[in-house]
Amino acid sequence: MAKRKQRIPSLTTKFRFTGWQASASRLMQEYDQVQGIATAVTLRRARVVMFLGVPLHAALAFWFAQFQAPIGQPNLQDWADALTELQVGIALALLVCGVLSHILLRRNAGHSRFGMAVQTLFCGAYLAFGAAAAIQDVTIGNGIATFLVICMGTAVLSLMRPVFSGLVFVAAFLVFWIILRSTPMDATLLSSLQIQAIAVVLMAQLISVMMWHQYTRTVLLRRKLELSNQALLQKQQELEFLAERDTLTGLYNRRMFLQLAQRELDHLARVPGHVCALMVDLDFFKRINDQHGHPAGDLVLKQVAQRIAAHVRSTDILARMGGEEFIVLMPNTDRAGALKLAEKLREAVRGQPMELPALQVPITASLGVTGLQTHQQAPLETLYATADKALYAAKEQGRDRVVWSEVPLEP
Ligand code: GH3
Ligand code: MG
Ligand code: MG
Repeated sequence: MAKRKQRIPSLTTKFRFTGWQASASRLMQEYDQVQGIATAVTLRRARVVMFLGVPLHAALAFWFAQFQAPIGQPNLQDWADALTELQVGIALALLVCGVLSHILLRRNAGHSRFGMAVQTLFCGAYLAFGAAAAIQDVTIGNGIATFLVICMGTAVLSLMRPVFSGLVFVAAFLVFWIILRSTPMDATLLSSLQIQAIAVVLMAQLISVMMWHQYTRTVLLRRKLELSNQALLQKQQELEFLAERDTLTGLYNRRMFLQLAQRELDHLARVPGHVCALMVDLDFFKRINDQHGHPAGDLVLKQVAQRIAAHVRSTDILARMGGEEFIVLMPNTDRAGALKLAEKLREAVRGQPMELPALQVPITASLGVTGLQTHQQAPLETLYATADKALYAAKEQGRDRVVWSEVPLEP
């Protein structure tokens, strides 16, 4: 028995239809995202048009009002009189739209429904004026150049989504068509003008759609760029933080400490003064990890870092050198000052037990201190090694204490 062919085409049609629907809805979403800002831009343009258009149309109104038609041409005088009224009307309409746009923009409401209403008024008034002025021009045989200019101007100045611009231009065409029908003229001229008007609104609509599409693309692309710039900036800040800081405690890391400390020693070589360094190492810290786990150990390290940071000066350079070891470089601090701070830090660590979620853990620290006096000079490595030696001695002598060690002077 012959197999029946499956009706796959209906499925493909369905998928194609769904794809089309998806693109249309994506396009609508994009338009919705851009609508507010496009209206605000149009209102800004309406404000500029007010400044240019009101004086221009007022001047034209004045010129038409002064116009004296040659004797025997009453239709020319009627044309000038009608245009005087139209110029006054459009000057007033532009003034109203411009002022309303200005008020809305000042109140940051250019994106609102009122903004859309003013935009509609702006386009509607200008197109209606164009249609009416074109009819007047037609009566003296000038063609529909005015209507063409006004439609193109509206298409370029007003950013409208395609459905909106379609409605606007169809309405403009209907106004033109209705006035044209009620104007006595030759049937052939009437048909020709109607066809020209259709061509004008179709072209205006095409230009409007192109302007809108271009604008939508530009705005969305700009937003995408802004977002990726923000993400890049955030990444850069994260990288800078990672390069300089210890991620657990937020203190400077070893690399940054060595860099900043070297700068201080270089400064000391030019401007004589004291500089001291102290190292802090927690006593039997391994036990805390072993008894309460590494997360608890991390919490203790954070709290110790906070306690040390609370006691050092803003000019001191505090860093976590690694593990449970911290270092402080103290510019402009002599031996007595450094030992005083070291004692304070020892007290700060042992004074209050560390707070863990379910319990409190007492802990102590050993500190090694060293320093360079005004007349002394030594490389950073020597200063660091001496502080470490003092720390080792503090451990040797029973922990929970401060030990000073002198920097070995170069012969
Ligand atoms: P001492 O008094 O001699 O200094 O003894 P100690 O236990 O403090 O020193 P030891 O060097 O034996 O152990 C240091 C411990 O610190 C071992 C290591 O697991 C722990 N440690 C290092 N870095 C971290 C960290 O980032 N988090 C946690 N939780 N533990 C760390
Ligand atoms: Mg230790
Ligand atoms: Mg250690």
